[in-house]
Amino acid sequence: MIEIKDLVKTYNENTIPVHALNHVNLEIKEGEFTAVVGPSGCGKTTFLNILGGLDKPTSGNIFIDGTNLHDRSSSDMITYRRDNIGFVFQDYSLMPVLTAEENVEFIMELQGRSKKDRKARSQELLKAVGIADKGNQFPTKLSGGQQQRVAVARALASKPKLILADEPTANLDSKATSDLLDIMRHLNEKENITFVIATHDQRVMDRAKRVIQFDDGKIIDAK
Ligand code: ADP
Ligand code: ADP
Repeated sequence: MIEIKDLVKTYNENTIPVHALNHVNLEIKEGEFTAVVGPSGCGKTTFLNILGGLDKPTSGNIFIDGTNLHDRSSSDMITYRRDNIGFVFQDYSLMPVLTAEENVEFIMELQGRSKKDRKARSQELLKAVGIADKGNQFPTKLSGGQQQRVAVARALASKPKLILADEPTANLDSKATSDLLDIMRHLNEKENITFVIATHDQRVMDRAKRVIQFDDGKIIDAK
């Protein structure tokens, strides 16, 4: 499904270069539930950002279902990302002025889906993440675990086959972490959604089907 070939990312090329990714090669198959691990600064976020089309590589290529991800204009990339990749972040990144339901509906609104259709889908998604009763709440009224569930529901809104999560459990207690992992594993198994999760969290590694270890911009282990 995803082929990563000789990926290099160098920041500050013209001053003091930082080699964040140093010739990374990897295949990620459909249906993987993969943890990307390694010490702070080893390149996990950079890797996820490039894999998700949020940033461009210095060199190298990523092929998703045979198509070169970064061979797109920036406007095509925005549409591609919106329709094909879900993102989950450490700080939830919900829009504070929108309710849980409106946060989930937002992408569908950009896609031009009808109000009725959006509402039905957002209710279905909030139910799938176990917070059907929180649709009218604003993010500040929700716990961290509940906010991250809204973020997962939002990531699912456009029916992506791939979800990228950057330290999704970093701010969650063990109960919320365990519940979130149950939800993500369930989506992985039931809907065959591929998950790639950058993490320091042993609890995530324990539930991953595959662990890819980075050090200093290189993959040192990928079982
Ligand atoms: P991790 O997610 O594993 O902590 P990052 O991908 O954030 O690693 O960072 C990898 C390396 O690239 C680090 O040395 C970091 O300081 C550097 N880096 C990350 N983003 C930038 C940036 N925008 N500009 C310059 N250096 C960066
Ligand atoms: P993480 O540990 O999740 O990678 P960081 O705190 O390292 O998060 O980075 C947060 C943000 O700061 C990222 O968007 C990253 O690209 C940017 N960043 C990290 N290191 C540098 C750096 N040396 N110079 C500029 N930006 C950086």
